[in-house]
Amino acid sequence: MAENGHAAAVLVDLNPEQRAAASHGDGPLLIVAGAGTGKTNTLAHRVAYLIATGTDPGRILLLTFTRRAAGEMLRRVDGLLRAGELDPARRGATVWGGTFHSVGARLLRLHAHDIGLPPDFTVLDRADSEDLMHLVRTDLDLGSKGRRFPQKGTCLDIYSRCVNAQRSLEDVLAEAFPWCRDDAADLKRLFSAYVDRKESHHVLDYDDLLLFWHALLADERAGARVRERFDAVLVDEYQDTNALQADIVALLSPDGRGVTAVGDDAQAIYGFRAATVRNILDFPARFPDATVLTLERNYRSTQPVLDATNAIIAAAAERYDKALWTERAGGARPALVTCRDEVEQTGYVIERVLGHREEGIPLKRQAVLFRASHHSMALELELKRRNIPFWKYGGLKFIEMAHVKDLTAYLRLAQNPSDAVAGMRALQLIPGVGPRIAAALMEELAENSGDFDRWVRWNPPEIAARIWPDFVALMRNLANAPVADVSAQLHAARVFAAPLIEQRYDNASARLRDLEQIESLGSRFPDRAHFLADLALDAPSWTGDLAGPPTLDEDYLILSTMHSAKGLEWDAVYVIHAADGNVPSDLACGSAEEIEEERRLFYVACSRAKDHLYVCHPLRYYAAGRGFSDSYGYAQRTRFVPDTLLPLFAETQARPEPEAAEEPLAAITTADVRARVKAMWE
Ligand code: ATP
Ligand code: MG
Repeated sequence: MAENGHAAAVLVDLNPEQRAAASHGDGPLLIVAGAGTGKTNTLAHRVAYLIATGTDPGRILLLTFTRRAAGEMLRRVDGLLRAGELDPARRGATVWGGTFHSVGARLLRLHAHDIGLPPDFTVLDRADSEDLMHLVRTDLDLGSKGRRFPQKGTCLDIYSRCVNAQRSLEDVLAEAFPWCRDDAADLKRLFSAYVDRKESHHVLDYDDLLLFWHALLADERAGARVRERFDAVLVDEYQDTNALQADIVALLSPDGRGVTAVGDDAQAIYGFRAATVRNILDFPARFPDATVLTLERNYRSTQPVLDATNAIIAAAAERYDKALWTERAGGARPALVTCRDEVEQTGYVIERVLGHREEGIPLKRQAVLFRASHHSMALELELKRRNIPFWKYGGLKFIEMAHVKDLTAYLRLAQNPSDAVAGMRALQLIPGVGPRIAAALMEELAENSGDFDRWVRWNPPEIAARIWPDFVALMRNLANAPVADVSAQLHAARVFAAPLIEQRYDNASARLRDLEQIESLGSRFPDRAHFLADLALDAPSWTGDLAGPPTLDEDYLILSTMHSAKGLEWDAVYVIHAADGNVPSDLACGSAEEIEEERRLFYVACSRAKDHLYVCHPLRYYAAGRGFSDSYGYAQRTRFVPDTLLPLFAETQARPEPEAAEEPLAAITTADVRARVKAMWE
């Protein structure tokens, strides 16, 4: 096929607007368009087009919101190039794809020397960063003496917001954390010490990955070297990037050559993490010769679903009007389902899911969406009871679970003996070793340049006497192991940790199986540093996309938080707990802006539906947690479906004729749910 033949073949499925976007020249390009108009699809085609017209795949950078999204897009690119019969050697395998944070980590590892970073740096995930913040806070004696001081998580939120929004502490406190305003001076002390501590521990937190990447690019000579790597930079979900990320894109290509950004201001849902829709609005000002394209044809949803979602977002206070249309006429209006309580909602959803499956929609193409991860707990229990397989996105992350963190702590410590958070964790897993002893041992390690053999001299308490030499031997072996053999290292750590994990936790056999999975995951990584960075950055979901679940061939229902559903689509979507207080969340009703963000979130959830949309809301909530299972409160339907929108929905009762009997219907009790919630914090 002639060169332009490949390119034409790649674009053949696109409509004229999409084609113009995908084959746009070198100038800065912004695509602003509504949900389901093919933004992501067009971006994938653009990558394929660039490769088909001669761009080296290794010089293309594709930035997405999740690891999963990058993987899926690159698979699509490969399929397109195959279809275009492009020489396999030039297909997309080596495109730089991933999240901002993971790409930042890779680049910093490559350019560590240029910017004076220790090359053995490890990455702290969110929980590790909180732990470090806590260590520093305790050392500075903040929060003791009965004084109320913000929690470690709040401290990290404040710090992170200042860094990501590039705003002063005073501004951030006034705007988002007014109750902490009196603590400004102490917070400054804390943050400054936190920065020092990260440096001495050779660790970077999430924010550092962006900050140092930014700094690297801002440096004249080092920046030029990084810029030289890429001919094209493409960003999906640009509405959810923050100020620092937008600056990074601009530093990668100051005049915008090769930059493509796609997004939808109506789907901006990460303001609480300092993302700003200004990035979209300011794109043309930042890159004066930018082309702005829009896409208006929606390919995802039927007309009745689109009518409802258009109406939901039309009520937004501020937005770019987008007239979306679809050729998918016909289909039913979305259902607005009133349920007596959560039990009835659960029953209704399961019944509809199974009904649609009977009609030929596999479980995988159906999803239940909710505002907060714990909103699905009753549903999960009932699905388990009925043996209906499901998969949950956006829940507790696999890697955040205590036993998984225990296992990886050994490798982290071997990788970077200055990483005190990992060290404290690994040491305290040993019986008889508490925080004081662990801190002293870490200090000794630091004084001896990370030589684990120094620990042989320590005289452990009786209870640890047998295991201590094994531990030191493990650490010595890990430190000296060939870095490439990640599985073998995980194996050694797992064999050592298994009895400790059995002693420490309930449900040990399931936990040990998790660790086996992690071990098998190790073989996919070229070396230990990549493995650790990847786990810290793109944590796979708990029940989700780890090594590929054992039941992958089987069918399973999708459960997801609304945030994690971004960019995805299903034939049937069930939005549950659509009651005020949940949507919008009580926790995010502080300001008009927060409520607008909740509205967009609800829009994101509803606009995932292709054919069937159900919006369910229970009328009564039992006051779980207050000790009385028979006390309850009434809930209102979400304010985002006001009466004026009712004609767009088919209103139904989950159960038209409520039974008189007050017998509990559920096979589960609130105690089950509470036990489950408690288990999450183990
Ligand atoms: P979101 O805003 O939710 O991220 P999006 O704008 O990125 O949505 P895509 O996910 O790319 O939209 O596309 C939505 C659906 O439309 C997908 O199923 C995609 O395959 C389909 N689609 C997009 N463009 C076309 C086209 N030209 N022809 C047929 N189907 C298309
Ligand atoms: Mg998309």
